[in-house]
Amino acid sequence: MLTIRKQQTKEGPLVELSGTIEESVNFEQLIGAVDGVLTVKCRGITRINSVGVKTWMKYFQSLKSQGVRFRFIECSYSVIEQLNMISNFACGGEVVSILLPFSCVACQNEFVACCNTAELKASNLQVPKAKCERPNCGAQFDDDPEEYFYFLED
Ligand SMILES: [Zn+2]
Repeated sequence: MLTIRKQQTKEGPLVELSGTIEESVNFEQLIGAVDGVLTVKCRGITRINSVGVKTWMKYFQSLKSQGVRFRFIECSYSVIEQLNMISNFACGGEVVSILLPFSCVACQNEFVACCNTAELKASNLQVPKAKCERPNCGAQFDDDPEEYFYFLED
């Protein structure tokens, strides 16, 4: 199931999607008319199945063909997975920021850090420094940077 929270910002609607994207999702109905730039917050997207991928692409491609601008922020692992598998998954929208999974080497705490893709590109796709919230802890990136950042390579 997918839930949506909508907010109006100066630039346009900000929608926060949470849950799974599958056949029952109707983006047109959920998001409604877009006035300005559509910002899609993807932090809470936990799974996208194959029909969900088609639904997603159909919706965002139609926005693009209507000249609507859109961007994705705080992309979760499920979204990054699709971005890496399907070259056109963003459908021309800008991927502004992504979540990076870390775990602490000392206390096993798992956490995510949000990182701007522009900063990642500027650093040549180096994993940014992150730190466990407890003192004297450390952190390690929980994925393969080369695979994780694949969609950001030119
Ligand atoms: Zn720790």
